[in-house]
Amino acid sequence: MYKTVLLDISGVLYQGNAAIPGAIQAVQRLRNAGAVLRFVTNTSRQPAAALLKRLHGLGFGIALEELFTAPQAARRWLIERHHRPLLIIHPELEPEFADLAQHNPDAVLLADAEERLNYAYLDQAFALLMAGAPLLAIGENRYFQGADRLHLDAGPFVRALEYAAGVRAQVAGKPSPLFFQQALAEAGGQACDTLMVGDDVQADVLGALDAGLHACLVRTGKYRQGDERTVSGRARVESSLASLVEHLGL
Ligand SMILES: [Mg+2]
Repeated sequence: MYKTVLLDISGVLYQGNAAIPGAIQAVQRLRNAGAVLRFVTNTSRQPAAALLKRLHGLGFGIALEELFTAPQAARRWLIERHHRPLLIIHPELEPEFADLAQHNPDAVLLADAEERLNYAYLDQAFALLMAGAPLLAIGENRYFQGADRLHLDAGPFVRALEYAAGVRAQVAGKPSPLFFQQALAEAGGQACDTLMVGDDVQADVLGALDAGLHACLVRTGKYRQGDERTVSGRARVESSLASLVEHLGL
């Protein structure tokens, strides 16, 4: 049994507007088995408190301190380096960064920002990058699963800025090893005793493996047929979180 289990949220616990069948009970069974749980997400369209409210509404018994989000990791990175960021983020996420100075920006924070991912903002970011400002991305996921279909995430826009300015982004969220190390530090866990469960083969599974964790790919959420070939022999593959918990004998 793993001492610490990191669970991705969207596509593992819920999809669209509903809990994935068996997920609520599976979380409870992991908890009953004594695992330290952290719910880790690159979701950057809402602050942690709003996400928690949503999870409670779906029936998940999760505490605020069990959440570890990519925006929280990004915030920490900016504060540690005393940066004044240009924020290209979703308006709902702005309160999480409201206490950071933002005049004369000397860094760019880019996330899934919906309508704000427009030419004017991206071009302003480009100018800052050309002047030497660092580019911090909350995540670099290629796409996410919405209630209806897959949608463009922030990754393609990160790549566009990297390409234009000839720079490399620092990534705060998954699959950055920094994110997994921070999540483990918060949980008081060690990589060798930790399982990461996710539906995103790159951000969740390959990211966790690169950081030295064990990993499990679930065939829910954004999973697409054939994803397991990318991690064959290196990660568990289960049809869902419920099936993982069943196979762990919990
Ligand atoms: Mg996911």
